[in-house]
Amino acid sequence: MTHTAPPPAYGLPNADFLTEAEALLGPRGLTTDPDRMDAWLTDWRGRYTGRALALASPASTAELAALVRLCAAHAIPIVPQGGNSGMAGGATPDDSGTAIIVSLRRMDRIRNLDPGAGQAVCEAGVILQTLHDAAESAQLRFPLTLGGKGSATIGGLIATNAGGTQVLRHGTMRAQVLGLEAVLADGSMLDLMTPLKKDNRGFDLKQLLIGSEGTLGIVTAATLRLLPAAVGRATAWVGLGGIIEARTLLRQLERALGDALEGFEVVPAHCLDSVLAHQPTARAPLGERHAWNALIECASPTADSAALSELMAAGLAAALDDGLIADAVVAANDTQADAFWALRDGISAAERALGPAMQHDISVPVERMPEFILAAVPELEASFPGTCAVAFGHLGDGNVHFHVLAPAGAVRGEWEDSEGKIVSARVYDLVTQWGGSISAEHGIGQMKVDELARLHDPVALDVMARVKQALDPQGLLNPGKLLPALPPH
Ligand SMILES: Cc1cc2nc3c(=O)[nH]c(=O)nc-3n(C[C@H](O)[C@H](O)[C@H](O)COP(=O)(O)OP(=O)(O)OC[C@H]3O[C@@H](n4cnc5c(N)ncnc54)[C@H](O)[C@@H]3O)c2cc1C
Repeated sequence: MTHTAPPPAYGLPNADFLTEAEALLGPRGLTTDPDRMDAWLTDWRGRYTGRALALASPASTAELAALVRLCAAHAIPIVPQGGNSGMAGGATPDDSGTAIIVSLRRMDRIRNLDPGAGQAVCEAGVILQTLHDAAESAQLRFPLTLGGKGSATIGGLIATNAGGTQVLRHGTMRAQVLGLEAVLADGSMLDLMTPLKKDNRGFDLKQLLIGSEGTLGIVTAATLRLLPAAVGRATAWVGLGGIIEARTLLRQLERALGDALEGFEVVPAHCLDSVLAHQPTARAPLGERHAWNALIECASPTADSAALSELMAAGLAAALDDGLIADAVVAANDTQADAFWALRDGISAAERALGPAMQHDISVPVERMPEFILAAVPELEASFPGTCAVAFGHLGDGNVHFHVLAPAGAVRGEWEDSEGKIVSARVYDLVTQWGGSISAEHGIGQMKVDELARLHDPVALDVMARVKQALDPQGLLNPGKLLPALPPH
């Protein structure tokens, strides 16, 4: 049995296709103008640049379905694209120039927001920040947020099953999607929009499409869950002697704070030092330097900030008495809380400024993460002399950003393609040995296709390939992403 997608039967890009596509979408809906396409041909991190036959921007599900039928007839590959903020090159076409980019950005209507039901019906192109704003104006909240919220779209968030900083309490995108609408590779429309709490009519096709990175269907709309707005919020910065203590603190606070606990992020001293050096106005929250720091947030739709801060302070005081933590400060107001989060959010940029690095978005079971970090960091640094390994982020989700910084003097752009690749393979080997995942949040895209094929369970890969073959026999939806594409024939 094969572990690859079926061979794409690419047709020759031809004038007939473009003429018919333009007739279908109108001049606003289709362009081949290099200047208008340029920004969408390179991924957010600037790692991949491709070429495209055209950029199509349908205005409705019906237009998109007709376009996909046309693509199927002409065997034109399709690369779905939302805000192009993805981290794995999933929305960037290859350099053959045979594919079209299908942008969902024009489909950006919130079709309905029902405060009573706590639901929003959004088209795929709605930007995450827009949904946050709409929910807030109805005294509600959409409980998923991330740094790319000004660009990331609902369709892209669903296609990558995005996470963010509130997964500990509210789950990933999978937990937020109550209904889904998608156009499949043959142009048929899959309507699973009705938000049924209980539905046992067989396979959960909605969940199959979530996280499929545009390889099984193009998401056109979703019914999303909204929660009552948070009334209170409390944020604390804690200094700790070790990462094992951080896990013990997490478990204690889960018991003390219950459902209010939303975020538990860890920041090693190296990362905090980098941010303080990189951001001249940033201030360390605690007087002394600690080997590890934890950024903890809780929120509640009923308790106010004062009550939550008191609860948080009591939990931390107990941990201080037990000798579990060295020091802690609960933010006195929103400004101070935002300053704590700015330190956390500033890590990637600060580490980038230090020089070339390989960045890994990995997970292992929460219970094993501290031991994984304690084993993996020295092993990598010993195997690759001069490197510095740091792990930071969502300890509460068993997901850290595992960065390995290049030795001093390494040349950016060269090191990543030489020793850096061997470093990454070693990181993924270790993660696999520890029962973890080589992609906790960002997806496989084109970046990790080879590593997924190398390390994932062969039976799981085979099932994925057979699902792909069943739903997209021509291999036209996002070829070369998530699963390897076979060469054109
Ligand atoms: C500063 C910053 C911080 C980030 N932080 C996080 C984080 O904490 N957690 C996290 O998970 N991600 C994070 N991301 C990554 C990114 O925001 C998410 O992956 C997001 O889901 C991508 O949405 P997008 O609309 O930009 O998708 P794109 O980048 O356009 O596409 C991503 C993938 O989804 C597919 N796709 C897009 N739209 C559709 C659709 N309608 N139907 C089918 N397939 C589609 C594409 O083909 C591609 O494979 C961050 C990004 C940035 C820039």
